[in-house]
Amino acid sequence: MPSKQQKTLMNYIAGEFVQSNSSFENINPVDGVLVNYVAEADVGIVNNAVLAAKEALTGEWSKMGLEQRSSLLHAVADGIEDRFDDFVAAEIADTGKSYYQVNNIDIPRGAANFRVFADLIKTRPAPCFEMDTPDGCGALNYAVNKPVGVVAIVSPWNLPLLLMTWKVAPALAAGNTVVVKPSEETPSTATLLAEVMDEVGIPKGVFNLVHGFGPKSAGEFLVSHDHIDCITFTGESSTGTAIMKSAAEGVKPVSFELGGKNAAIIFEDANFDEAVAGTVRSVFSNCGQVCLCSERVYVERPIFDKFVTALKVEAEKIKVGRPDDGSDMGPLVSRKHRDKVLAYFALAVKEGANVITGGDIPHFGDERDNGAFVNPTIWTGLSEDARCVKEEIFGPVCHISPFDTEEEVVSKANDTVYGLAAALWTSDLKRAHRVARQMEVGICWVNDWFLRDLRTPFGGVKLSGIGREGGIHSLDFYSEPLNICIKL
Ligand code: NAD
Repeated sequence: MPSKQQKTLMNYIAGEFVQSNSSFENINPVDGVLVNYVAEADVGIVNNAVLAAKEALTGEWSKMGLEQRSSLLHAVADGIEDRFDDFVAAEIADTGKSYYQVNNIDIPRGAANFRVFADLIKTRPAPCFEMDTPDGCGALNYAVNKPVGVVAIVSPWNLPLLLMTWKVAPALAAGNTVVVKPSEETPSTATLLAEVMDEVGIPKGVFNLVHGFGPKSAGEFLVSHDHIDCITFTGESSTGTAIMKSAAEGVKPVSFELGGKNAAIIFEDANFDEAVAGTVRSVFSNCGQVCLCSERVYVERPIFDKFVTALKVEAEKIKVGRPDDGSDMGPLVSRKHRDKVLAYFALAVKEGANVITGGDIPHFGDERDNGAFVNPTIWTGLSEDARCVKEEIFGPVCHISPFDTEEEVVSKANDTVYGLAAALWTSDLKRAHRVARQMEVGICWVNDWFLRDLRTPFGGVKLSGIGREGGIHSLDFYSEPLNICIKL
């Protein structure tokens, strides 16, 4: 077994990999085995990272032309693709996700995020307004986009590289410098990304990485630092509240992508097989650990029983197991998270749920029993105000209930403190348009789920977030427009 020294993931500050006085363990959720140690950044290390980012704002990076910045970001994408297998292995070791998902979604999207924003920054228009003046000569207003400054990026564990680069790429494209704090559960691909940044020649201090936890650790030290200029965060709504309190002190702009309790609505006129297949994906993908996953499924009464039976059949076909044995679904991210999900499994029974399938832990009789697995789970029979129907669980689980009218289901779908995503299944075009625009969410799919065009606005309403990411929306958050008014 390699020594502790060899296996420690470092912080990355001003172009150097930096050790710290304390470290924590990164555990593989497939079998409970140690993946590596991680150097936990203390307050001094976080301070150094922020100061490095601040200094880099006025250096070589600020003088670089748009073309050069854009090609460096393409080089980062190339670097990820050159080390594709390393990224895949690292993401799998941290999360236990299936090879299929990591190969097809997590790592390719990590690289694509850099390409999309590297190209977009070159075609961003700037507004220009001509105005009349009393002397008849007029004036010209035009805006130039300046970077905001030092961006604090705090990211979650469910799509570690994908969601982190979704922020890093546009922030750098817009000319900012960043300090990234990845989730303590998934530090590995962030560290590989630091290596790629180093290899391709991103100037020192432009990309900095600090490892650690949230409260009283690197996360809190970072978001409360005086010299950060804005905060972008993806994670739980309650963490968003804590971070917003820190941001309030310095009146820092925030961009938040938070939790959800998303509805899927299946109308009687839907293509039944497509709706079942789509709902299997929207409930169980990534072991239910996608913020967009459907946890509340509403099915029109005439097809309710048939739909519940079909979803049960498909859920029971899902092969749960190791990433490398052809399984469809891996474990939850950690034992700690599994305890939370299992508490909801027990609560659902107490609240009167019919457990259609699952609600328990698979037993393998091998090292996987030390992991964090649960079975795909379906409930029916809960009331709309049950906690299991109201609260985000973030596991492979849904509650299915029947509805009779469009008005009723719209009202039920919107009766939540969250507002991230919805999926509608119908073959009635008018209904699709009519219902979609009534959804109180940031993104609504019709006859699909998780189909993403990276130029579109992405985000949530209510407790699901503040602001939008994607395309020009991301670039706008990471830029300060300066209006220049010229009297002619
Ligand atoms: P989390 O809020 O527990 O942690 C996210 C990050 O915040 C981690 O890096 C953590 O260390 C850090 N953190 C925690 N407390 C902090 C504090 N007080 N100050 C600064 N940093 C702090 O979330 P998670 O468990 O990693 O992720 C799952 C959650 O993320 C779910 O609620 C899910 O819905 C949400 N999510 C939302 C989206 C979206 O786009 N809306 C996408 C993915 C995940």
